[in-house]
Amino acid sequence: MRADLHIHTTASDGRWTPQEVVERVRAAGIGLFAVADHDAVDHVHPAAREARRAGLAFLPAVEVSARLNGTGVHILAYGIDPDHPDLRRLVETNRALLDWVNEETLRRLARAGYPIDLEAYAAYQHDPSRGGWKALNYLIDLGICRDVRDFFDRIYVDPYRPPDPPFPHPEEVVAVVRAAGGVPVLAHPGMSLRKQGVTPETLTPFLESGIAGLECYSPYHDPQTIQACLAFCARCDLLVTGGSDCHGGFAGRQLGIPPVRLEDLRLGPLTECILR
Ligand SMILES: [Zn+2]
Ligand SMILES: [Zn+2]
Repeated sequence: MRADLHIHTTASDGRWTPQEVVERVRAAGIGLFAVADHDAVDHVHPAAREARRAGLAFLPAVEVSARLNGTGVHILAYGIDPDHPDLRRLVETNRALLDWVNEETLRRLARAGYPIDLEAYAAYQHDPSRGGWKALNYLIDLGICRDVRDFFDRIYVDPYRPPDPPFPHPEEVVAVVRAAGGVPVLAHPGMSLRKQGVTPETLTPFLESGIAGLECYSPYHDPQTIQACLAFCARCDLLVTGGSDCHGGFAGRQLGIPPVRLEDLRLGPLTECILR
């Protein structure tokens, strides 16, 4: 069976609704999937319902923003109860930080002379099927920014890029994920640790924070990075997950890539959390 345990929907910055995700997952021949939106659990129940209707296996998930020693990282929380109050509070706090980043970026652009009206921005509603986030789409509609690549090349850089917001320490995220019945897995280590490199030394602090697994299979990983992750998991008895980080065509990643089979993964207790 093929699996993709990292897919975004319109609840965060993906372009597909849960129904569209399920249609695409089925068409791609994937039998097990997880919707893992950034700091949002709104589409866990709808995706579970659609999956059940389509006869697909589904793992509830959310991708939580965290920060360790100045590095922004993402923690995939699998098997969570999306209604758990502590988890809700955590993702709402993180959402507020993401909103602040949006607004602060615009304030800085406005101060530098860009024609930005913050009141108009407050009233602006973007179409989630475009993918991305509010400030990005607002800037595209104003003609200030071309697309997501242009945003990161030219807009989200000094001096307009705000300081990184105080996302919680992985230890705090792990505690909440555990309280919500979930299992915390470090997302795409090769992306988060691209500056430091994926080594036992750079991974150990996450292990010490209570991370129970690594997303070994990811489109950001070359074969060496996959091997480094798998070796660390084998050595430290960690779970092995994988997924495409597909955003439905936004920002480029493709559903089911890299191809992952259920037997490539080590889901341990998460096997019990799969809804069929
Ligand atoms: Zn991520
Ligand atoms: Zn993601």
